[in-house]
Amino acid sequence: MAFNSLVTLNDGSKMPQLGFGVWQVPDDGAEAAVIEAIKVGYRSIDTAAIYRNEGGVGRAIKNCGLNRKDLYITTKLWNEDQGYDNAMKAIDSSLKKLGVEEVDLYLVHWPAPQRGLYLETWKAMVEIKKQGKAKSIGVSNFMPEHLTRIIEATGVAPVLNQIELHPKFQQPILREFHNRHEIKTECWSPLGQGKLLEDSKIKAIAAKHGKTPAQVIIRWHLQNDFIVIPKSVTPSRIKENFEIGDFVLSADEMAVMAGMDDNEGRIGPNPMTAQF
Ligand code: NAD
Repeated sequence: MAFNSLVTLNDGSKMPQLGFGVWQVPDDGAEAAVIEAIKVGYRSIDTAAIYRNEGGVGRAIKNCGLNRKDLYITTKLWNEDQGYDNAMKAIDSSLKKLGVEEVDLYLVHWPAPQRGLYLETWKAMVEIKKQGKAKSIGVSNFMPEHLTRIIEATGVAPVLNQIELHPKFQQPILREFHNRHEIKTECWSPLGQGKLLEDSKIKAIAAKHGKTPAQVIIRWHLQNDFIVIPKSVTPSRIKENFEIGDFVLSADEMAVMAGMDDNEGRIGPNPMTAQF
């Protein structure tokens, strides 16, 4: 059974809780992958300027047979485009490649604190929303100190923070900050880039439900009220990752997976020190 729940963001708009990520999908494969995802029921697509596949995603939007308003499109502003004026240009470039008049969600991809520009960039995001080029605005990879600074300076909280989160890296401190500020938690690399699929505890839970490890992990995210964007280019897996509406993890199973958290479990870059 497919999963079509929507979550309400702090600006009142609604977003699919389960979406499709396209990092590392080449531009010439993005149209087919996104159309495949839309065919099995996904409505939310997560791309970024740096993925260099906004063109392919745009072709999928145009050729998938659905109305633009039936899709939820997220893209992200790359670090080199930070700063007020650059950000105003970056959104126009993304809209052009995607072939749309507005995105549903525009994110600042990384705080890149060494550049010292994320607050100026956030001020541009507020203007981009005012101009109707993004229905909602948010951030990615922001830590509490970055979130505090942009909220205090502008009075505008991001609708969500897209962060690395999976059973081996659960970010409890950041999640608690999000909850206090009505910021949704969106999880990238939700399957640990596939590395968690061989975990024996997850395999045991999957066997009990007659599901796959990927389905169990996605279900865990959804039952934690996270927004989640697994990626695959394999049609059978794209479908599998969306067919998670017909089982429920028990409180005990959720507790077993909560117990897998590891402070050292980060796979991707650390936002405080990443040099890009
Ligand atoms: P993921 O955790 O979604 O894992 C994807 C990989 O897992 C696939 O390449 C495939 O190898 C494997 N996989 C997927 N489904 C499977 C299945 N059913 N069975 C077996 N193997 C399966 O990793 P990801 O791509 O890093 O993250 C998902 C999305 O998050 C990205 O596509 C992107 O949109 C977003 N993302 C954002 C950031 C950021 O900085 N904001 C960083 C990384 C990723």
